[in-house]
Amino acid sequence: MGILEVKGVSKHFGGLLALDDVNLSIQQNTVHAIIGPNGAGKSTLLNCFIGKLLPDTGTVMFNNKSLLGLAPYQINQAGISRVFQTPEVFSELSILENVMIPAFAHRDGAFHLSPFKSLARETSIREQAEKILQDVGLIDERHHTASAMSRGNKRRLEMAMCLVQQPKLLLLDEPTAGMSRSDTNNTIDLLKTINEAHNITFVVIEHDMHVVFSLADRISVLSQGHVIVEDYPDKIKGHPEVQEAYLGT
Ligand code: ADP
Ligand code: MG
Repeated sequence: MGILEVKGVSKHFGGLLALDDVNLSIQQNTVHAIIGPNGAGKSTLLNCFIGKLLPDTGTVMFNNKSLLGLAPYQINQAGISRVFQTPEVFSELSILENVMIPAFAHRDGAFHLSPFKSLARETSIREQAEKILQDVGLIDERHHTASAMSRGNKRRLEMAMCLVQQPKLLLLDEPTAGMSRSDTNNTIDLLKTINEAHNITFVVIEHDMHVVFSLADRISVLSQGHVIVEDYPDKIKGHPEVQEAYLGT
């Protein structure tokens, strides 16, 4: 039984069948990549995991509980976080403050900063945030404002903002999109480190085959809304239907 079990999920947009009977079983602590050509339904599928879209049919179970009908914040509190294609940080705040805010929001179950918050709680959150900044390699810059960061460091900060919420499942939609080769390689190393150190399951949507084959333990190939193949990375290229649908050979 996987941490995330998707069974028979379909989704129409008017007459268009964007997801067609999708089945997925994501195992705990693995990196599971979902690849496929543009328009295959990858983002639609991800949106069904985070409460942005409701499938027409099928079930989405996380740790044996249905996610369907839950609001995005409830899904987040259940332990699912999402990393966006473009890192979203508060550019006027310091790197440390950027990490402390989601920690407060997560613990309080709502986004508010009370002027009466206890000092003890703030101290424990600060310590937690600093530990995570150490993990992602930003501890020395923690008092700098986020505005002047490189794209690679913004990705590190965004990862820290996710990790401080202690997710069990992290969804990454093209985490290296638009990055230079060296930032991409740094991000691959960062994701590997985090996956191993924090016992977090990753679902990665990715076009870049270098990233997919560097990171994934398991790959599902989506084509025209349907999972055509699921296999280990060293096996995936050998499937004729994958070559036809995706690798273009
Ligand atoms: P991918 O992320 O794999 O590129 P998407 O999930 O974004 O693919 O899209 C799958 C199909 O569904 C595409 O044909 C796209 O045009 C269509 N689609 C996605 N979102 C919507 C929407 N909100 N309304 C109508 N059509 C949509
Ligand atoms: Mg997409």
